[in-house]
Amino acid sequence: MRSLTRCVHFPAAPGDPHRPVATPIYQTATFAQPGALACGPYDYSRSGNPTRAVLEEQLARLEGGRQAFAVSSGMAALALLLRLQQGHVLAGQDLYGGTHRLLGRHDASFVDFRDLDSVRACIRPDTWLLLVESPTNPLLHRADLAALAKLAHRHVCLLAVDNSLMSPLRQTPLALGADIVVHSATKFLGGHADLTAGALIVREQGLAERIAWLQNAEGCGLGPFDCFLLLRGLKTLGVRIRAQDQSARRIEALLRRHPAVSRVHAAGGSVLSFETGSVQCSQRVVEATRLFTIAVSFGSVGSTISLPCAMSHASIPPEQRVLPEDLVRLSVGIEDPSDLEEDLVAALGTSRRPQSSEVLAQPIRPAMGS
Ligand SMILES: *Cc1c(COP(=O)(O)O)cnc(C)c1O
Repeated sequence: MRSLTRCVHFPAAPGDPHRPVATPIYQTATFAQPGALACGPYDYSRSGNPTRAVLEEQLARLEGGRQAFAVSSGMAALALLLRLQQGHVLAGQDLYGGTHRLLGRHDASFVDFRDLDSVRACIRPDTWLLLVESPTNPLLHRADLAALAKLAHRHVCLLAVDNSLMSPLRQTPLALGADIVVHSATKFLGGHADLTAGALIVREQGLAERIAWLQNAEGCGLGPFDCFLLLRGLKTLGVRIRAQDQSARRIEALLRRHPAVSRVHAAGGSVLSFETGSVQCSQRVVEATRLFTIAVSFGSVGSTISLPCAMSHASIPPEQRVLPEDLVRLSVGIEDPSDLEEDLVAALGTSRRPQSSEVLAQPIRPAMGS
């Protein structure tokens, strides 16, 4: 099966005598057992639930993994990953703000994963995990995942790749040698900005057993209704990504030739970012769009616009942030691309070229970001 087909065709309700075509929401906490000493396939929803099982099967299939685990958010997935072992974690420099905040509790250091020599130099004897976002968000820097997998394994480390920005339709890290894929399913996988969810997908049985133990023991599994929403979102992943990527190429071309835009960052997907040369100009553009909602998150059917330094990445202290303060991030949705172009042109028209004296004059103060 090709990926568009795989999004839609999967066993929706294995074992259900009514053969529903959509996966039922098994909204139950517990399951009656056939006898005091006998157990069916499910006994308690924290440990396992049929709706979650279908979702986890489908996530594993899409990422080409052995087993997947659906949890309550992307951060819950990362927290679960970091529970696997104690020791040093080597993470990327321009990481998602929440991941950076979570790593503050761990022994972690940060490196530019594009530079393999630096990576090699930063791996310590107690390093157990390389945690990579590629491409990074929002600067869209790409790392060589296959080379990083080899390097990690040579040093007896695991390679985990946060694939939230790409989705399995654009990149399958397990096939490149990664051990674990992390998802904020809140983003492209769900695709409708109507749930928070996360996932870990693994290639190897031993790792799957350790994560299964933690998911049950600590109780972070995704609830049945959210599993249903995510399963429904996954069915349209292929068409959404196709439409969003196509529109984003038009927006990217528009930005590249627009005089108010000084620099564009793009990696082929529907999340892109640009600089205007001044924080004030960027703020004006963000506030002038009508179809791009000012909101954190990305990957939804509705287009969004944000100032990462003040929003999604505000929890990273300014001195550790590698982002330009005037960076504007766009997530392009499935609206008619001509409407989006007109909206953006109108918003950019309200901005003007900055005077050199005001360029980056005022750094943005961090707020409590998401
Ligand atoms: C949003 C995001 C997360 C966190 O996911 P939540 O679902 O918001 O908890 C982690 N990694 C990346 C790359 C993200 O974009």
